[in-house]
Amino acid sequence: MPKCPKCQKEVYFAEKKTSLGKDWHKLCLKCEKCNKILSSGQHAEHDGKPYCHQPCYSAMFGPGGCGRGGAESHVY
Ligand SMILES: [Zn+2]
Ligand SMILES: [Zn+2]
Repeated sequence: MPKCPKCQKEVYFAEKKTSLGKDWHKLCLKCEKCNKILSSGQHAEHDGKPYCHQPCYSAMFGPGGCGRGGAESHVY
């Protein structure tokens, strides 16, 4: 049984989501930063962890870098 990279528990078929070459629980495949639930193959990745493209990945790693805050900034 594959283990979920997020919570380290076994992933059953019915709740499986495959992304980044790993099997995740549906509710565990979410952005490391903002906790938005992600769709497999439709998100960014850094260091093996899933991130949403917008705003997290582009804000942290994309061109333009960090420092763009605004109304949506709930950065820790
Ligand atoms: Zn999990
Ligand atoms: Zn995010």
